[in-house]
Amino acid sequence: MIDLTSPVDCLKGVGKARSSRLARLEIETVEDLLHFYPRRYEDRRAISKLSEISPDSVCSSIVKVISVDSRVSSRKKMILTEAMVSDGTALVSAIWFNSRNLANLLAPGRSLGLHGRVSYKGGLRQFVNPEVEVLWEDRPPRQMGCIVAVYALTAGLSDQWMRTTVDHVLRDFLCAVDDPIPESIRSELGLIDLRLAIETMHRPPSPEAWRDARKRLAFDELFTLQLGLATVRSRRDKVVGAPALPCNGPLRSSLERALPFALSSDQSRVLDEIGGDMASDVPMNRLLQGDVGSGKTAVALLAMMQAVDGGAQAALMVPTSVLAQQHGSRIESMLSPYGVRVETLIGGLPQGERRSLLEDISSGDVNVVIGTHALIQEDVSFKKLGLVVIDEQHRFGVLQRVAIGTKGVPHVLVMTATPIPRTLALSVYGDLSVSVIRTMPKGRIPVKTRVIGEHKVDDLYGFMEKEIGRDRRVFWVCPIIEGSEHLDAGPLEDRFAALEARFGDKVGMIHGRMALSARQEVMRSFASGEKPILACTTVIEVGVDVPEATVMVVENAERFGLSQLHQLRGRVGRGSEQAWCFLLGKPKTTEGVQRLEALCRSSDGFAVAEADMAIRGPGEICGVRQHGITDFKVADLIRDVELLETARERAFRLVEEDRDLSSFPSLRDAVLRRYGRKLGIATTA
Ligand code: ADP
Ligand code: MG
Repeated sequence: MIDLTSPVDCLKGVGKARSSRLARLEIETVEDLLHFYPRRYEDRRAISKLSEISPDSVCSSIVKVISVDSRVSSRKKMILTEAMVSDGTALVSAIWFNSRNLANLLAPGRSLGLHGRVSYKGGLRQFVNPEVEVLWEDRPPRQMGCIVAVYALTAGLSDQWMRTTVDHVLRDFLCAVDDPIPESIRSELGLIDLRLAIETMHRPPSPEAWRDARKRLAFDELFTLQLGLATVRSRRDKVVGAPALPCNGPLRSSLERALPFALSSDQSRVLDEIGGDMASDVPMNRLLQGDVGSGKTAVALLAMMQAVDGGAQAALMVPTSVLAQQHGSRIESMLSPYGVRVETLIGGLPQGERRSLLEDISSGDVNVVIGTHALIQEDVSFKKLGLVVIDEQHRFGVLQRVAIGTKGVPHVLVMTATPIPRTLALSVYGDLSVSVIRTMPKGRIPVKTRVIGEHKVDDLYGFMEKEIGRDRRVFWVCPIIEGSEHLDAGPLEDRFAALEARFGDKVGMIHGRMALSARQEVMRSFASGEKPILACTTVIEVGVDVPEATVMVVENAERFGLSQLHQLRGRVGRGSEQAWCFLLGKPKTTEGVQRLEALCRSSDGFAVAEADMAIRGPGEICGVRQHGITDFKVADLIRDVELLETARERAFRLVEEDRDLSSFPSLRDAVLRRYGRKLGIATTA
């Protein structure tokens, strides 16, 4: 007995050779074949009369064979098969090169469908190498006169063969497909039956029917994922025991009053969302999204004060030690007047200093700790950790969230400056609540972005000269080239030398492999204006805040990802002056050109991220590719926003009503099969 799970080589017409070719397309079972959807379609619904076909067009016609002739061409030792065919309106010829088995198919008198390009030969119109379908009285043509599927195949498999094979599989196995989505949900959301959807994908009767089928299958993918995420969430919601930290404490309100600006309405709104979560003993797991410079830090600081108000400690994790230092000293100067003790914990501290710091953290003397991932990697114990803020989340990846959960059950706020398109956020971080800061603080002028060629560098130097003359600062970022054994800082050093030759002692240099104290010194002289030009690597990519910086130059911009470039650009334009970003380089691919153009067009991080996702696919943006969460076959994270939101809403509601999906066993199986391992929900909790 062959069923959906049988290997494809059980099928008639699929032998060893073809099954190994199918395996290359990840088609192992009969079911895989059903779900191998076409890459595109050809609309061959129009059948042309032979009297109407014109040379240089692609046509489908239904004809009868009049005569056939095969010969070996003298020049190239090629078999030429030529047939004269007619449909009663005209006589035309059809020719095939090197098709050995054709002669049998082309018996005079036989009905054929032909599809292909028409040319003009010796006074006669001629189909050149057309596709042939032998027609029978009792069955409509399948390869023409309809919309025809084109598959993404490998060598040795033809579309015609694939269509025929899929037809057989549809005929014999479609009835065995079980629709996991309950009828009630299907009719509520206007989704067609799964079997109909699968069949329609392979042979759509019309574009409208195809759209309904695609929608149904895309919904399945989105719904299954959202059910998985809802399950993760429902299990976590059962965990209680995070400290409940009320939001009306004195520190938080004093600090808010002391800020040099009033919170924007977006900032106030997200702070309410965060504060509300922290006031409960259900651990918060919230993503705070906001473009570079949108003012996430102030929000995080106020949330941290809420933790300290509640008698708990707060930790802020940032990606680099430069940033930890910078945030640490700034936050310390803001908070120490209130009697809040702030410490920075990074690698490379002297032994004794480190030991006493760790003691003070575990005794609770330290209220706020700022550090890099060393904070979670090493054995740091807190007296009562109330809130962990993870800044620039995409640097840490998805999984480290889990690691931090092992240190007691603090509330967790993850901040990301990569504006993740909403669809992607819902798909990847669907188990997190999401708060978004959409609007920038008042008075920001968008950075002007230009792509320039190497030959313009002298003009650029002139421009920089003017800017530093007005006490502005310039970042000049060079790529670090990763060789097989070491990182090549050559481009940075070369540029530093060139800049020094032009600007003398106005130039500093910084990269990740310098000692911490040396880096701090360089940053200080840059910020103070002593050395207003900074040749650097992406060390400065995230978080660094120098309001006087108005020029960002990125050398070999094509080597950087789009969201990384957007991050870099966010380092300038933080003050009230017009700022500039120059992308130096010459992309070699169209994709490269498109990416840089997207950046010049828009300063809205969400638009940039969407462009990035459209060009590179979703996985690259936040490094989630390896988790395989968003590799949908049908759903499209840009087009299917609404469908995703519907799927999410419905999935979360369903899990709320029926936590283990016990009334929907086949739905539960589908979720576990796809996401059981990836989301860690394989066992019932
Ligand atoms: P992000 O971390 O989101 O990239 P920051 O928190 O570093 O952004 O804020 C960027 C700059 O904007 C800082 O200099 C900050 O002081 C300032 N800022 C933040 N909120 C406001 C506001 N509501 N009004 C004016 N300036 C603000
Ligand atoms: Mg920040």
